[in-house]
Amino acid sequence: MCGIIGVVQKRGDVAPFLHQALKRLEYRGYDSVGITTVANGHLYMKKERGRIDEVHRKLNLDDLPGSIGIGHTRWATHGMPSMLNSHPHFDCKDQIAVVHNGVIDNFLELRSKLSARGHTFSSDTDTEVIPHMIEEFMNEGQDLKTAMKNVALQIEGTYAVVAMTTREPDKMCAMRDGNPLVIGEEEGVHYISSDIPAFLPKTNKMILLLDGEIATLSADGVEIEKISDATKVLREAIKVSWTADQAERGGFPHFMLKEIHEQPDAVKNTLRIRREVIAEAAEIIRNADRVYMIAMGTSGHAAVAGQHMFGSLAGILPVPELASDFSDTVYDRLSSRDCVIAITQSGETTDTIAAAKYAKRLGAKVVAITNVVGSSITQNADYSLITQAGPEIGVAATKTFLVQLTVLAQIALALAETTQFIDDYVVSQKRAGLLRLPEIVSETIARNEERARTLAAAYYDRPSFLFLGRGVSVATAKEGALKLKEIAYNHAEGYSAGESKHGPIALVQDGYPVVFVVPRDGTRSRMIGNIMEMKARGASILSVAERGDEEICGLSTQYFEIQTGVEPEFSTIPFVVPLQLFSYYVALKKGYDPDKPRNLAKSVTVL
Ligand code: GLU
Repeated sequence: MCGIIGVVQKRGDVAPFLHQALKRLEYRGYDSVGITTVANGHLYMKKERGRIDEVHRKLNLDDLPGSIGIGHTRWATHGMPSMLNSHPHFDCKDQIAVVHNGVIDNFLELRSKLSARGHTFSSDTDTEVIPHMIEEFMNEGQDLKTAMKNVALQIEGTYAVVAMTTREPDKMCAMRDGNPLVIGEEEGVHYISSDIPAFLPKTNKMILLLDGEIATLSADGVEIEKISDATKVLREAIKVSWTADQAERGGFPHFMLKEIHEQPDAVKNTLRIRREVIAEAAEIIRNADRVYMIAMGTSGHAAVAGQHMFGSLAGILPVPELASDFSDTVYDRLSSRDCVIAITQSGETTDTIAAAKYAKRLGAKVVAITNVVGSSITQNADYSLITQAGPEIGVAATKTFLVQLTVLAQIALALAETTQFIDDYVVSQKRAGLLRLPEIVSETIARNEERARTLAAAYYDRPSFLFLGRGVSVATAKEGALKLKEIAYNHAEGYSAGESKHGPIALVQDGYPVVFVVPRDGTRSRMIGNIMEMKARGASILSVAERGDEEICGLSTQYFEIQTGVEPEFSTIPFVVPLQLFSYYVALKKGYDPDKPRNLAKSVTVL
């Protein structure tokens, strides 16, 4: 994810506006920033690693000439955050400038062909192939729009691309497939951006650009056509009634809710990580004598789920450990034959980095799973897998949890292929099940959001909750409890249902809420036993169950339903979603800001 802005106006310098617009897009990415303008037949460029204010202090982003320009705030996917990897990217002659949001899957192949034809590259990004490809087509005599359409035919992946060139200095072209772009319209000025807040202070008139379309913007007008057959698209501008603040959250009242709704896309994008990339991590893990998973908080719950995925699909039994307690648990008994999988959303969690460094010092291999390219954990790891959630602003992790689970599921399947713990046919069935999850998560949100709101209104004032599951659902239960605790401040415990009768059941009395996570897996009949025990003591049973599981729903006071057909090992991915929504609405009902829970920080950088 990243923020793109482009502006074409008749006169006056655009750079100060581009700078301010990028600040309004900074929530979409913030590891580096860049602006390019066209004036007097030249491209003028400033870009650098760092947050916008920092870079502005160093370079003065307002000081570029020209009434046409593009800007980008980056969330790296390919290549570390650095000056050279920052966008815009250029062709060999510095006549074409490109900003891009998304991932070009076949960039390696394209890059080597372009290099063989004499193009020189100055970054490690996937993006840089685009200006060089445009250059080749333009050298054949094509205009910018035609060149971009030809590029679209050759690139695979997802993109929102905006480009401009000194050869056509009064216009820019924008095309998309899979990543957002909206056009803003004002008398004599046109804007193109990843999101509306960028231009909202200037105009509330916007035109959507859709996948497979290319737009040409000049100060006087906009033309849109289909990339495939050049059919003209006539689309009226619509007026948005959002305030700038609402627009930043995509119209949602909070980032947390927006991010819950982004989960289907986050999972889908993470499923696009190439099989070879996953296989390499799996190989390190498979060759290890012992495998640990170290993490904290929500990432720790991903580790618990990962343990079950690896065990049931590949017959490999990693040990999940709290990163903070790792050295106190393994007593230096680690060697080069061991592997430690370190999971951290931000890649900056001090506990996890310290544990990874400790493991490395003792010779163990470290595989990192993180959402941030170039973060500290990747610098302390032998191998890193980058989840594709884009930046998460809400302090309570939601979409980053789902993508961590998605990566662990992909590793578990890659391991299963080599260990042959389950046969190939089952592996392919499980893989198909994983690919269905974006759709199932989307349906889960649609089906359960209203119910989450209703149940929140009925239960928000209960001082304490138990969340119970078995097997992989212990992870779901623990995460459900953590969400409620961290944003709504209700006391909540996530437990194994088996363990619940060894203590926690003493809390239960008439009306005490117990949340049961009951996918249709091998634990279900024992879960029914636990529900009966709790019911016998007067508990209010809230369950998350498969749709049509009448037995569970019949035993429950209230329930959330999940579409059928979820592979049991991956059940945490959809089953946790109603619990996220429930916590969100409880927090709201109690008047708390779910995006900024007290005493918590997004990334915990103290030991
Ligand atoms: N893949 C591009 C990069 O890493 C764009 C990333 C983005 O969408 O922010 O630079």
